[in-house]
This record gives sequence, structure tokens and C-alpha cells, in this order.
Amino acid sequence: MAEEAHAGATSRTERKALEKAKILQRESERNIFRLVGQVLKKPEAERSEEEASVLLLHRDAVEELCKRQVRRNVLKRKQEELFDDAEELKSKVRQLAVAVKQANHLVVYTGAGISTAASIPDYRGPNGVWTQLQKGRTVSSSDLSKAEPTLTHMCIRTLHKENLVKHVVSQNCDGLHLRSGLPRHTLSELHGNMFIEVCTSCSPVREYVRLFDVTERTSLHRHGTGRRCSHCGDELRDTIVHFGERGTLEQPLNWKGAAEAARMADVILCLGSSLKVLKKYACLWCMNRPASKRPKLFIVNLQWTPKDDLATLKVHGKCDDVMRLLMEELNLQIPVYDKVDDPIFSLATPVRPEEVKSHTREVITPPHELEEVSYAPTEQADNVTSVQGGWFGRGYSKGRKKKKKA
Ligand SMILES: [Zn+2]
Repeated sequence: MAEEAHAGATSRTERKALEKAKILQRESERNIFRLVGQVLKKPEAERSEEEASVLLLHRDAVEELCKRQVRRNVLKRKQEELFDDAEELKSKVRQLAVAVKQANHLVVYTGAGISTAASIPDYRGPNGVWTQLQKGRTVSSSDLSKAEPTLTHMCIRTLHKENLVKHVVSQNCDGLHLRSGLPRHTLSELHGNMFIEVCTSCSPVREYVRLFDVTERTSLHRHGTGRRCSHCGDELRDTIVHFGERGTLEQPLNWKGAAEAARMADVILCLGSSLKVLKKYACLWCMNRPASKRPKLFIVNLQWTPKDDLATLKVHGKCDDVMRLLMEELNLQIPVYDKVDDPIFSLATPVRPEEVKSHTREVITPPHELEEVSYAPTEQADNVTSVQGGWFGRGYSKGRKKKKKA
């Protein structure tokens, strides 16, 4: 018994000594890196003999620090927003117009960059949601329900009407494609739609389109909206694929439509997406085919994307600017969004009387009620606090941690 205790003590002492040695070694490595780093910062000509010999002595540290610097530079360059000058932009859009006219099956992929003009921040731009959350800041979503389809949304709708665009695959949850008048079957909203809640107990899945953001109570792995299906009484869920999740709903995300569209596509136009998430969905890129048999890629984005090297053309411009020029080239009128034509009002199911107070998010006002509303000061206008989360980032940090572990 005493012996055992003694052995335990020895091994504990040994472990401690080992730990200590490790700590000392790490400390010494840190010192070397600090020293080498300081020397490397100096221009070569200004280094003393002693400093030069430090570099010779610690070649591994020099190599590692140089690698890190390269990585940092690449990262910085990838985050920068670039703008083509007016001439270049025009000439690129002319090329794009030719491709649009010649395409047999043009599919459009859209990201947050097409909604920034509707004052919905993008994800990875300098003020994007992702960028802000990375820095530990919160993101306000107070005026998201006020967002309306942008010029780009309206152009895409027109291009579809003109039979130039066959399908739209969107990462955006803001519902603006739908509200622009794009038919539902033409649209795959891969990450859901903030205005749609569904009952998955009903078969087929029963959809409830609402005139407000249904996601205020939902977050990562918590999809219940608190309202109930009027047919079976089960709790409704949002359709949002939150940060860190994989979409499992077939409907209304319409993955099938997206995969089918990609299979048929000969031209893919990517608008305002960093493509960092979309690139992970192999079926969207026909990567199982040889490069020459894949759809031609046209990318409109201010920042670098992982598909840039594969693109036929990369346009550095704001989506609205590019689309305005494109429509000019194609000789097409750009319709202005008119609430009267917004399909969401005819698609929407009113909430049941007992559920009117089940949410605090602002309701999109139907056009015929607009006049009355404008006379009465609305309560909501006064207490527009910065609402957090729902589809807009809540649960993000949880998702991050999980990802890192994996
Ligand atoms: Zn149901």
C-alpha cells in the first residue's frame, strides 16, 4: 500500500518534470520566433552580423515565419474588394451579354451580395454578418423585414420571363426572389426562407407563408417557431439552414430543382456570393465531368472566390451596376418593384387569432392597407431595437466551435 503510494508520487513527480520541460521548451521556441521575427522585420542591408547569424542558426523558424507571412498576405488579398474600372466593366458585361444570349440553359446562383442594396448586409464583405460575428460583434436585424427586392432581383425576374434564365439557386433567406415575382418552381432557396414555416408532420410537408420573419425564436438545431399547424396541431418549424447545419428539408428548399438545373446548365452566372459555402455542394458544379464538359462560369463578386480560377469571366462590380449594364446590352427594361404585384400577399396564410401575438417582428403591410397605416403612427416604429438572430446569425458561435472540434 505504502509502496503503491510511493510509486504514484514518483510518477507524479516525473509527470510534473516532464510538463515543466515541455513548458520551458515552448517558451524557448517562442523566444527564438520572437527574435527571428524582429530580425526579419529589418531590411536585409540593415541587419548586423550578429542578427544575420541568428537567421542562419534558426533556419526552421525563418522558414515558418516566411510561410506565415505569405499566408497572411494571401488572406488579406482575398478579403479585399476590387472594382473594375468603367471601361473594363462595360467590356466584360458585353461578353456576359453574349453568353446570356447564346446560353441554352442559363442558371443563376445568388448570394448576399445581391441584397446589400436592400440594406441587408452581406456575409463576408468588410461589414458582413460573418465578418462582424468573427470579430465578436453583434448584428442588428431591425430593418430586415422592410427590405424589398433590389434592381438585381427585378432583372433576374425579367430574364426568367424572357426565357433567358431557367433556374435560380439562392443562398439567401431574405425571401426577396420570391417577392420579386419569380415563380416558386424556378427557385431553390438552399438555406430556407425567413417568411416560410412548415409542418413536417403533414404529408406532403405543409407550408405556411407569413408576412413576417418567422424565425425570431429559432436558432442552431432549434427550429420550432412556437406556432401550430392548423391541420394536425403539431408545432411548425422554420425552413432555415442555420450556420453550422446541413439542410434536411426537401421542401421548400428545392434541392432537387437545384441539382437538376446544374445538370442541365451550360452557363452558370454567380452573383454576389463568396461561393465559399456553395462550392461545398458538389452537385452544383458538375465536378464529376471533365473540365471541358462543365458549364461555363461567370462570376460577379467584389471579393476573391474559390471558383475564380475556373471562371470564364470574373467581374469585379456591384451586382446592381453589372445588371443595369447587362439589361442595357440586352435591350431589356428593368421593372421597378411594386408592392401591389408582390406575390407574398396572395401566398400568405394569416395566423390564427390566438397566434397574432406569437411574434414581435414587423409585418409587411399589404398595399391596400398602406394608406391607413401612414396616417397612424405605428407602435413598432418607436421601439425598433436591434433584434438579434433568428435566421440572421443566432447560434453562429455554437456552430463555429463545433466545426473547429471536428
Ligand atoms: Zn400538420
